Amino acid sequence: MTLVSGIHHVTAIAADPQENLDFYTGVLGMRLVKRSVNQDDPGTYHLFYADADGHPGTDLTFFPWAHLPPGRKGIGLTVEVALAVPPDTLGFWSDRLAGFDVAIEEPEERFGERALRLTDPHGLELALVETADEREFTVWEESPVEPAAQIRGLDSVRLWERDLALSADFLTGVLGFERRESEDGWQRYELGDGGSGRRLEIRELPGERRGTWGRGSVHHVAWRVADEEAQLTARRAVAEAGRRPTKVIDRFWFKSVYFLEPGGVLFELATDGPGFTADEAAEELGGRLILPPWLEPKRDEIEAALPAL
Ligand code: ZN
Repeated sequence: MTLVSGIHHVTAIAADPQENLDFYTGVLGMRLVKRSVNQDDPGTYHLFYADADGHPGTDLTFFPWAHLPPGRKGIGLTVEVALAVPPDTLGFWSDRLAGFDVAIEEPEERFGERALRLTDPHGLELALVETADEREFTVWEESPVEPAAQIRGLDSVRLWERDLALSADFLTGVLGFERRESEDGWQRYELGDGGSGRRLEIRELPGERRGTWGRGSVHHVAWRVADEEAQLTARRAVAEAGRRPTKVIDRFWFKSVYFLEPGGVLFELATDGPGFTADEAAEELGGRLILPPWLEPKRDEIEAALPAL
């Protein structure tokens, strides 16, 4: 038994929210499953892109903080988010992305799978990785991307760290990851039987300076816990390891606990439920601004301050 079962979501920092929406829905073909605000900064949107049903493990979310300078890539940060795509679709994706003038690299081989690196409009480094691994995924019928090529969810994340052993001991000794092979300087760790959505990779860069958050940075990586009981168990273990987790915070669609792993990357423990249909019908997901109950009394004020999308 591992304390976490895979990637739940990844949250990153964008600039203009309309450009962010256009790229993730219009170009990558993901579904906007929740249009909300940053609960700690309600003047900023929080936009969630996922598969049609918003399954845990498919969700990439953004805080559009257009006033921030670009992030500085460095240690203690997640430096790339890999998204799973079906086998033999990278040709489709290369053509599609080139058609939208998206910066892409030549396809590369990673741990036996083909990957295409690209950068989103605000500097976030992404990779599309071909995988046949089973995933919880529902086709988004209104996507501009054909069902056979649609993004299946989050595949992996890549972290830069000053001291691999510090993070590795925590990942394997506390969270339950297993060390797997390494390639091109990247050490892979996996949960359970491994596979797409249950892995991360770390590159040790002792001489590198510390990264800072900004536009195009990953803010945090959330790991799946089945329910509130599993979350408390994981939280206790994280606390015993000296990582000083936050209290459980109700994010309405899931419950969250945050902590810094030993290398300084912000992690979250997020429950699988109740999910994005807690406050919207499945067919209406993402259609209107959703506020947590304590912000509803200020809806007019909040909506007036947000840019129209
Ligand atoms: Zn989160």
